[in-house]
Amino acid sequence: CKIDYQPPADLLKERVILVTGAGDGIGRAAARTFAQHGATVVLLGRTISKLEAVYDEIEAAGGPQPAIFPLNLEGAVLKDYHDMAETLDKEFGRLDGLLHNAGLLGRLTPFEQYNPELWDQVMQVNINGPIWMTQALLPLLKASADASVVFTSSSVGRKGRAYWGAYAVSKFATEGFVQVLADEVEHLGTLRINSLNPGATRTAMRKSAYPGEDPMSLRPPEAILPTYLWLMGPDSRAHNGEMFDAQPPKA
Ligand code: NDP
Repeated sequence: CKIDYQPPADLLKERVILVTGAGDGIGRAAARTFAQHGATVVLLGRTISKLEAVYDEIEAAGGPQPAIFPLNLEGAVLKDYHDMAETLDKEFGRLDGLLHNAGLLGRLTPFEQYNPELWDQVMQVNINGPIWMTQALLPLLKASADASVVFTSSSVGRKGRAYWGAYAVSKFATEGFVQVLADEVEHLGTLRINSLNPGATRTAMRKSAYPGEDPMSLRPPEAILPTYLWLMGPDSRAHNGEMFDAQPPKA
């Protein structure tokens, strides 16, 4: 956990970073903060109006001009990811950062009642989509002199908990995939793959998982970003295949 990390203002200067689920919650805050630290961000998400709002916020704050890439991970197929890679290749020629942040909670429900279609949807958005997107983007990540891929995990991706169903399983799969791919790219020395658990954060997803909780008792997305910045910048270069937490464990 690097919640006390104090990044220089130009930490991500000249870096091109793709953020999925960039229209809301943690992804929105991450995209804005990466841009504030000099990154050219590619905003990927399924609701164009939200992506446009983030685009405007970044422009208004004087950040590098971002790019918008609308994509619904639920229906996306390999060709979409390859088209995306081609567009990014033409525009930038490389990718220095990839934050897999988009996520779907599904429903907290006893497994006996879990709907198989909802199960597949959650697995698609949380793990299968990000995996094939990563495969399509690997050549661009390898073209960077210092590239960082961050997969978003959860506490239920490290220890299972009743009723969390597909969400928990997708996050366990995320951790497994991070270890496999990190081991494969270790020899390159220029590409790192790590997992990050944001911890309880004041967003719409958290609210739907814990409707009775006072949101003001939680850190807002902006407050958990130091670890995101550290992982995207050069200071984390030596770390590959590791699990990180964005917040200290609850006392
Ligand atoms: P939010 O629900 O607030 O935001 C999720 C983002 O993902 C939204 O921008 C949403 O788009 C996007 N998204 C969802 N489905 C798709 C899809 N099919 N295609 C493209 N984009 C999609 O969630 P959080 O910000 O809270 O969560 C971000 C990440 O952090 C997730 O991976 C979550 O699992 C993880 N996490 C969050 C915690 C928390 O306490 N908040 C704790 C542990 C992990 P749209 O706005 O259009 O719906």
